[in-house]
Amino acid sequence: MSAPFDLPDFDAHEGVHFFHDRVTGLKAIVAIHSTHLGPAAGGARYWHYADSERAVTDALRLSRGMSYKNAMAGLPVGGGKAVLLKEEGVTKSPELLAALGRAIESLGGRYVTAQDVGMSEADMIAISCETRHVSGLPAKSGGAGGNPGPSTAYGVFLGIKAAVKHGLGRDDVRGLHVAVQGCGSVGSGAARHLAAAGAKLTLADISPGRVRALADELGAEVADADAILATPCDVFSPCALGAILNERSIAALQTGIVAGGANNQLARSEDGDRLKARGILYAPDYVINAGGIINVVLEYLGIGDADAVRARIEQIPGRLAEIFAASEASGLSTDKVADQMAQRLIGRG
Ligand code: NAD
Repeated sequence: MSAPFDLPDFDAHEGVHFFHDRVTGLKAIVAIHSTHLGPAAGGARYWHYADSERAVTDALRLSRGMSYKNAMAGLPVGGGKAVLLKEEGVTKSPELLAALGRAIESLGGRYVTAQDVGMSEADMIAISCETRHVSGLPAKSGGAGGNPGPSTAYGVFLGIKAAVKHGLGRDDVRGLHVAVQGCGSVGSGAARHLAAAGAKLTLADISPGRVRALADELGAEVADADAILATPCDVFSPCALGAILNERSIAALQTGIVAGGANNQLARSEDGDRLKARGILYAPDYVINAGGIINVVLEYLGIGDADAVRARIEQIPGRLAEIFAASEASGLSTDKVADQMAQRLIGRG
């Protein structure tokens, strides 16, 4: 394996820490991209990787993404990420999570963890036995914290409205057709807000039961998971997988706006230019989907309750409007504009 310095995704990360616990089999990588704005915050991912270089690459890429996301959300934290290697014969036991907690504690608060793919609220509770540098714990009534999905969904809804305002010159979504890919925590939450605001919805999910139940609840149409990308609509809202916007799928889109909650929607950096070339307004994913991280960071820092979380989420549309305007003025795609803004905020402009 190449040293992290030699990997293409190394981006002047402040630290890349490797942890191994002999007793539980824990193998974890904590990448700290930037602490310029505060402790590096970002979730822990539990995933099977073909080899450890891919795990390091994921940690490098995701931690930089967290720096950008947190900075653009106006949070006083930097960016980091933990990756736990899922391996045969090793279980994500309370003992393994406690070992992860001790590893995080050894970083002295430079890294704060939270939930990501493969990790649950119960896992955060187990980690919290060994370190206080953990968020995403159950929320107290009226407090910040808990499941980040509803916060993310609310931000996505507001972000869609901001894109509609810029792209279509309309103040509301009443009567507009929104195609939502993915009816999980974020997609279903965003769809409920959109339906309540009078939008016409087409929904898709690879789980037929899930999409049918939500469509029945909201009076929405259902499309095949394979067909949703090419559904003629006013807004396409990706709320399932990453890397769904590529040369082929962008050519197939029949929408003027792409605005949704999925992480890492652009397969490659040039896909932002492809969207722009087709005249499609793209809401950068890490700006529109920051509601969840706002929720967990306010919980961790103890700097606000549920109302404060809501007030910060309500700043997402303003940030998007700024990006859309700067993109028009500069001719750069919206994702590049957002990256440049984020780099300036973390002192790397
Ligand atoms: P989830 O697991 O609750 O829901 C994802 C849904 O997408 C599932 O219903 C799944 O069946 C469906 N799906 C998977 N592949 C699909 C496909 N090819 N076509 C259609 N549907 C498909 O996850 P979530 O928490 O709602 O997250 C959705 C996306 O938003 C992910 O990319 C996640 O990284 C991102 N995100 C989530 C949060 C959060 O707070 N939960 C925050 C930021 C970003």
